[in-house]
Amino acid sequence: MSHHLLSAEPGPHLLLGNEAIVRGALEAGVGVVSCYPGTPSSEVPDTFRMLRESGRFYMEYSTNEKVALEVAGGAALGGAMALVTMKHVGLNVAADPLFTMCYTGLPGGLVVLSADDPGCHSSQDEQDNRSYARFAQLPCFEPATAQEAKDMTRDAFLLARETGQPVLLRTTTRISHLRGPVTFGPLPETAAPLVPFIRNPQRFVPVPAVSRLRHKVLVGNMEAIREKAETSPWNREYGSGKLGVIASGVARSYLRDVLLAEGWENEVRVLELGFSWPLPLERIAAFAGSVEKLLVLEESEPLVERDVRALAQQKGIRTPIFGKGGNLTVFLEYSFPQVREALALLLGKTIRPDTACAGAERELPQRPPNLCAGCAHRAVYYSVRQVFGDEAFYSSDIGCYTLGLLPPLAAADFLFCMGSSISAGSGFAKSSGKTTLAFIGDSTFFHSGITGLVNAVFNKHDILVIILDNGTTAMTGHQPNPGVDQRLLGEDCVHLDIEAVVRGCGVSQVVKVKPSNTKAMRSALETMKERSGVRVIIAEEPCALFARRVLKKNHDRCAFVAEQDESVRRAAAELACPAFACSKDGVSVDASLCAGCMVCMQIARGFTARKKDGQ
Ligand code: SF4
Repeated sequence: MSHHLLSAEPGPHLLLGNEAIVRGALEAGVGVVSCYPGTPSSEVPDTFRMLRESGRFYMEYSTNEKVALEVAGGAALGGAMALVTMKHVGLNVAADPLFTMCYTGLPGGLVVLSADDPGCHSSQDEQDNRSYARFAQLPCFEPATAQEAKDMTRDAFLLARETGQPVLLRTTTRISHLRGPVTFGPLPETAAPLVPFIRNPQRFVPVPAVSRLRHKVLVGNMEAIREKAETSPWNREYGSGKLGVIASGVARSYLRDVLLAEGWENEVRVLELGFSWPLPLERIAAFAGSVEKLLVLEESEPLVERDVRALAQQKGIRTPIFGKGGNLTVFLEYSFPQVREALALLLGKTIRPDTACAGAERELPQRPPNLCAGCAHRAVYYSVRQVFGDEAFYSSDIGCYTLGLLPPLAAADFLFCMGSSISAGSGFAKSSGKTTLAFIGDSTFFHSGITGLVNAVFNKHDILVIILDNGTTAMTGHQPNPGVDQRLLGEDCVHLDIEAVVRGCGVSQVVKVKPSNTKAMRSALETMKERSGVRVIIAEEPCALFARRVLKKNHDRCAFVAEQDESVRRAAAELACPAFACSKDGVSVDASLCAGCMVCMQIARGFTARKKDGQ
């Protein structure tokens, strides 16, 4: 098959950071790829999916990150170079096998991609997964450009295979989603040869007696890898001057830009840490001792800074060390102006106004989170509010449906993490005695909601669960999950029936309903409101975008306001479909946005249907 990522032409090629990672893995000879999609990592598996027919590798969307890591780890035990990809919070889900894999090692070579999200662009926290490199003991690479994303991915695989230790490839949103020129290296015809698995329970079956020994092996291996870090080309120095800066991650790019823009290249010496764990301690000590002042520049947590301070104390290095403080905080992403200001302060410079990024920090119009026009989740929430209003409390989960949190839908009172809504809702109902509903999407249900449901049944909780089954993993780009019927796309797949799974978990009060049928949805809610125990409504209706873009199902009708009456005004206020336009003249429908779900027509007499223009 022909795809620009399979090109033999060196380029340069303009690639997304996540695409560059795919190319790097292919250049290394990756043989197995598993994932759970999560922004900002999702384009990596989605790109592999596009390349599946090349026959170079096996790839799968696993049901959650722990499963994905176990599949990839098993594949690396079986001798393949394996890649597992996830967003930062996914590594929390996968942490259990991760720690053990570092003990046993994986001879084929495993790379774990963690895409972090400083600034919470699409996440519930800003956790810094470099901590996992230190915690579980994984070598860590941190690219700062698209070229580095490609080259470091390749080198991460080479290190993983050479040492048998799993390697962490840590990006951030800025790196995963930047575009930059990438020069390709040679592409092998096939995946790397398998490393034969040799039975060795004394290594691969970590009962306590084995684990004690393997812990020592791990520490020894990491020390050997630290020595590689001392001379790695990814840890490099440039510039000259009395101020030293140790920079890691994307901060390296901001630093380069500032030095170039301000002409400070001869006033600052830089030690870049691209291969950032284990730290090249000898090199850092020599660098720190050779400058008059030292700044540690890293986004998120002051991890390198703490290590450098500890090292300085051990080695008796008296160079003043600066790091977090002033405008360099642990919050959000760094930026060019922020890094420039920090450097200017240490260099005693005044920033020239002509180099200021005029307007760079200008306030942008706010776009509150919103569900799409025609989204079935809106129909669910509308009916829920009609039946339960503020009497009930709403336990939400991770997915598109979280976007129903704002009024008038106001369908989220609390949320922890993927798959938490049923169990958190169970606990909330138990302690508060309040009527509680848990919302969970189809993909999230398979990810980790099932165990919460089993727990609710086993412990006799009192909760109404609404499974929002829109037939895809919508939030991250319409990836498949076990409940998705990929046969609609002509793919050979196994399709799990959510209702059968729910009944198999021991739930007897189950009803399936199409939420755009507001009468049926309301009736199901009213019935379940009168009951107690674990009750499940499966609200099944395809994602409007998926139906339109992927399944090519377009409604030829749209809504139209025939009469500006009270019912229309109430629908605008309570349903708040984004296709409504409200002005002093009343409510109208933007036909280009209307998805033709017909919900507004069922709840307000003033709406009627008409053919879309040109149809
Ligand atoms: S039919 Fe009504 S509710 Fe549905 S998308 Fe169109 S305007 Fe919105």
